[in-house]
Amino acid sequence: MAIFPCSFAPHRYPGPQRSVYLTMTENLSSQGVKHRVCRHHFEELLDVITGFAQPVEDSSDFNKACDGCGRPAEKSLFATFFAGQGEGVPWAGELCLTCASKASAALHWTDGQALG
Ligand SMILES: [Zn+2]
Ligand SMILES: [Zn+2]
Repeated sequence: MAIFPCSFAPHRYPGPQRSVYLTMTENLSSQGVKHRVCRHHFEELLDVITGFAQPVEDSSDFNKACDGCGRPAEKSLFATFFAGQGEGVPWAGELCLTCASKASAALHWTDGQALG
């Protein structure tokens, strides 16, 4: 069984590798990071994302109100959760600057591996 390091804490874990891709866009610029995490931290991220974004569905309305607090949104957050093999589950949210920085902190943004 493969053993992988978790992006979050200095610990290693057995079992399938889970990954989470995060992108934050503001006007025309975007920044992305990738996390490779253990099951526990994957679930923690999933819990966090529910406060700042919604699962993307065909019927999703595009709104410009913050998903965190309802004020006018300035940034867009996209996340894709891969629980193992197969297609990832996409999430998207619109955030004001305050909620965007809360989301970055809660999602361990700075622990992620920057996407090129
Ligand atoms: Zn972990
Ligand atoms: Zn907000």
